[in-house]
Amino acid sequence: MSMTAEPPAKASPVSVPRHWHGRRDGDNIHWLTLDKAGSRTNTLSQDVMAAFDAVLGELETDRPAGLVIRSGKANGFIAGADVGEFRGLTDAGEVERLVLRGHAILDRLERLPYPTVALIDGFCLGGGLELALACRYRVAGEEARLGLPEVRLGIHPGLGGTARLTRLVPAPQAMGLMLTGRTLRARAAKRMGIVDAVTQPRHFERAARWAVTKGLRTQRRPTLVALSNLLPVRWALSQVMRRQVAAKARRAHYPAPYALIDLWLRHGGSKPDMLKHEARSIARLITGAAAQNLVRVFFLNERLKGLGAESGQPFRHVHVIGAGTMGGDIAAWCAMQGLRVTLQDRAPEYIAPAIGRAAKLYRRRLREGHKVRAALDRLIPDVAGEGIRHADVVIEAVPENLELKHKIYRDAESRMKPDALLATNTSSIPLEDLGKVLARPERLIGLHFFNPVAQMPLLEVVRGEGSGAEAVEAGLAFARAIDKLPLPVRSAPGFLVNRALTPYLMAAVQLLDEGHPPAAIDEAAEAFGMPMGPLELADAVGLDICLHVGEILGGMMGGMMGGGSGWQPPKGLLRLIEQGHLGRKSGQGFYRYDKRGKSIKAKPQASSAAPSTAQAELQDRLLLPLLNTCVACWREKLVEDADLVDAGLIFGAGFAPFRGGPIHYLESADAPDAKAMHAKLKAFAARHGPLYEPDPGWESLLQA
Ligand code: NAD
Repeated sequence: MSMTAEPPAKASPVSVPRHWHGRRDGDNIHWLTLDKAGSRTNTLSQDVMAAFDAVLGELETDRPAGLVIRSGKANGFIAGADVGEFRGLTDAGEVERLVLRGHAILDRLERLPYPTVALIDGFCLGGGLELALACRYRVAGEEARLGLPEVRLGIHPGLGGTARLTRLVPAPQAMGLMLTGRTLRARAAKRMGIVDAVTQPRHFERAARWAVTKGLRTQRRPTLVALSNLLPVRWALSQVMRRQVAAKARRAHYPAPYALIDLWLRHGGSKPDMLKHEARSIARLITGAAAQNLVRVFFLNERLKGLGAESGQPFRHVHVIGAGTMGGDIAAWCAMQGLRVTLQDRAPEYIAPAIGRAAKLYRRRLREGHKVRAALDRLIPDVAGEGIRHADVVIEAVPENLELKHKIYRDAESRMKPDALLATNTSSIPLEDLGKVLARPERLIGLHFFNPVAQMPLLEVVRGEGSGAEAVEAGLAFARAIDKLPLPVRSAPGFLVNRALTPYLMAAVQLLDEGHPPAAIDEAAEAFGMPMGPLELADAVGLDICLHVGEILGGMMGGMMGGGSGWQPPKGLLRLIEQGHLGRKSGQGFYRYDKRGKSIKAKPQASSAAPSTAQAELQDRLLLPLLNTCVACWREKLVEDADLVDAGLIFGAGFAPFRGGPIHYLESADAPDAKAMHAKLKAFAARHGPLYEPDPGWESLLQA
């Protein structure tokens, strides 16, 4: 946080507990800075809250003219609760008592009889915003981001935020913010009435002083707020909210948004009731499986980020060869992240469509004209490949053809800087084969991006047998430099994500061949918690690409995909491809699509009921091959450990996050026991072929 303004130092410090540092200035304003000890980020851990409680006790007796709360950290105000403290909570009664203690502290802040101001710059999320909501005024810096993202962790606000926000701004907006978990920029938060003033941080001190001495004119709408909390209004609005939530998430999978709606519907008329039941509701949620698994996902995300620790090597310039589906989008993404990018293809006409797509992406994501222009300026068409000489990283994304890739590498290696990294986006050619033509094969790694590049957070960083440790480290660091989650994987057919997804897609097409309707197949997977059904996913990937990956994996992995090395592609898939139906890109695959790529077929209404026997059988037929392959990848140590298998499948394939990952699911109480699943696989293998043959890795699960 760029807090340049220091209050006058004529100070009489009150006491200085850890984390909180207070100074009283000549105007008797108390400036209280949170600078959490031993942490780069301010979070509201229990000790921070306890220390805050002690400070408030002193401020109740030794009264200042006003209290200003701000952060001593460069990265923001307060990022929220300390998520680490959520792990392993099982006793809802104990959690409720803890939450109520937190409530009492913020109630104390709210009751102070003089003006209180939160000075917010950078992130102000979750508990951080809840603390700010207990202040009389909130002043935000232009770049501040505010939000209550708790639903993403399977809970809702728990420090009084549900009660305070629905009393500060009209309930539909307050509930919308909490139900989506989205963050707001400072100006949007001001328009909504959450923030009272937005200014440059260099004016913070003046603004805070003004707020204390003269008050701020707020944009609050008390009548509208009161009306929006009346019972009939709550009743009507909650119906709409439930429908909107149901379109995105099922209650059985993600109970938090539904619990939040229920809480507000039942208790939104009274602040004390709302507070009391907020504590009860969050205690129930946080001790449940969904929240505990989503907390696990939070830490898997942190782990992947940590794998790409800075290498000390700055990445300024990327050269991408091949401006097609992947190369074009990789280049656009890197330029959006602030890198200079040169993009090479055979002729300008192959590069132009990539630049067009980049412009669209930047308009959508960056919005402001000058940012869009700057990103486009960084993305430079380069048919001659001049950029190779200056690039820190060269990424090859030409078609899947060994000779072509060899030709490209020979040329690139002769022109690359000596310490530059060479990366391939290949999906299926072994790195060992690709590196054969290189004088220095140790600097070749795989950077396997997923399609669509701008939406998929994961980047598989592939280590071939010849890849040097330094190159792999640099690849991991590069992934972070472009804001992707790096997953280090060993070079093996399909790497991790495609390897695990392919049997799942093939099982879906096999079910189709057996006569099951596509919608029933997809619904079975979605009812398990997959973000989309396998057939819709295959349409999105492209049926030709699915077939290609299936052929390669089927050929290389022998028995895995059925029929030994002579893998037989499912008939339904071949038929569609022969007819030119390649999925969403051609307007038809398993489903038909309109011009905007939206599915024309209305999908059946999602049901929250337990799966029927027929649906449960479909689920097993689809999911067991996927889980089985994850067990194989774990056994073969394609990635370092089981947690990384889980992380790869969650961030690379959207595997039901609320289940905590495939291996975690297998070991959890939610899954049928390992013996039953193993037996089912064996029975399926006898009836439906080797796609279901259990991997030897199950042995360790059966013994557990
Ligand atoms: P694509 O056919 O869309 O694009 C390839 C581009 O390379 C084309 O624009 C082509 O003109 C260009 N090219 C061909 N020869 C060239 C040369 N000599 N010099 C410069 N450019 C040349 O292919 P794609 O789908 O983007 O795949 C590229 C790579 O990425 C492949 O290795 C593929 O396996 C891998 N991959 C693809 C996907 C996917 O979903 N499409 C996902 C992950 C990885």
